[in-house]
Amino acid sequence: MTNIEIGAYRDVALKSLQNQTLQQALSCVQGRIGKAASYAYQQLPEGPGLRQVGHELRMQALLELDVLLQELADQVRSRGGKVFFAADGDAAIRYCLETAAKNRVKQVVKGKSMVTEEIGLNEALLNAGIEPTETDLGEFIIQLAGERPSHIIAPAIHKTRQEVGRLFADKLGIPYTEDPAALTRAARSALREKFFAADMGITGCNLACAETGHITTLSNEGNIRMSTSMPRVHLAIMGMERITAKLEDHAVLFRLLSRGAAAQSLATYISYAGGPAGPDEIDGPEEFHLVILDNGRSRILADPEFREILCCVRCGACLNVCPVYGKIGGYAYGHPYAGPVGAVLNPLLAGLEKGKDLFFGETLCGACRDACPVDIDLPRMLLAHRARLIEGDARANCRAKAGAMEKIALQGWSKLAEHRKLYEAAHNTAALGQRALPRKTGLIRRMPPPFSAWTKGRDLQPLAPRTFLQDLQKKDRR
Ligand code: SF4
Repeated sequence: MTNIEIGAYRDVALKSLQNQTLQQALSCVQGRIGKAASYAYQQLPEGPGLRQVGHELRMQALLELDVLLQELADQVRSRGGKVFFAADGDAAIRYCLETAAKNRVKQVVKGKSMVTEEIGLNEALLNAGIEPTETDLGEFIIQLAGERPSHIIAPAIHKTRQEVGRLFADKLGIPYTEDPAALTRAARSALREKFFAADMGITGCNLACAETGHITTLSNEGNIRMSTSMPRVHLAIMGMERITAKLEDHAVLFRLLSRGAAAQSLATYISYAGGPAGPDEIDGPEEFHLVILDNGRSRILADPEFREILCCVRCGACLNVCPVYGKIGGYAYGHPYAGPVGAVLNPLLAGLEKGKDLFFGETLCGACRDACPVDIDLPRMLLAHRARLIEGDARANCRAKAGAMEKIALQGWSKLAEHRKLYEAAHNTAALGQRALPRKTGLIRRMPPPFSAWTKGRDLQPLAPRTFLQDLQKKDRR
């Protein structure tokens, strides 16, 4: 089972553009966190160049992935933990449900985990009669509202505090308030009961460490620590790529991740778990299970053009600077990964054809790469998706999409670009012809077919009366 859903990009994007509350929330998150992350990289003692070090550490781990995962599994097993390698979402869900059934689990508390969103674990738990409760505040709000996260790190970013106030009054039975502190207190007291009642805690994993045999979780609320240590059983699910070789790699990567995610020097809580509680430990679960999920990642790993996306540490920084995400929000990208990372990853997981609007919708401005704490070249991969779709690619199970007209047009363009005289003649003709087109505030409002689709949703800057070279030559002659 995989819960990747894409396909309604255009409709959802259009609706989002008209949603004033969402527009305000998005501009607020981009104005605050987007800018602050770049400042936070500048403040690193090693400077922003540490992002390239992080990139190399992640790429190196991918090259040694089989060895590192085996080392991790051996270490966890030696401490009495259980490790399961899940080929896909179905296998992961089956294992979770079997473990829950063996332990007669009725209630689960969850730490925030995108990988459980990817496989649809909450729905599967509910279908099995098990009540999952999200314990991250944003996720808790979204779960009460019956919605899905719209941002990797800030899942309820699209909700105003008035909306949260009404939701809590309705679902938690408290008097209406829009005071964030009072709302947080209400969530905390509702969640505390869940922590006490839960038989099982399910978490994701930010990065595991092969050397020590631990999974690591980062949070600012302390909820994950409670989810891993209070219930009798802790089950962690990690995407198979989320591992480093050495503990010292975490010192680099977590500082980068925290800056990218929330412009923090370091997340408030960093927890390591790698087995059940030992005989001399007062906290911790009686059982520890680690599910290592493939679900299409081996295929991506084998593809040199897209392997780099597996370096992603899911910090959400690329969302916070993306001009497209900043207007259309997370839901347009489908589920669960949004923004530039979603535009690369979702089509890889769900299919190139299905996800084409996502990668064609991005601007290729490069802001995502600059914001990424591990310097992932997202624009390169967005272009690579486009090339594969147009040229066809057996690896992506996709036939060539370029139509005869498009090919002729591009061949014509390539000829023009090679012959300056021809190019200038075409430019001068077009510059003359555009005078007949309707304009507003200097911009062209409508183009004739076959170019009319371009002006359906945007105005066009008219061509300059002369090319750059013509201008330069004129200046030289003066
Ligand atoms: S691609 Fe980079 S910036 Fe985007 S979520 Fe992944 S690590 Fe963060």
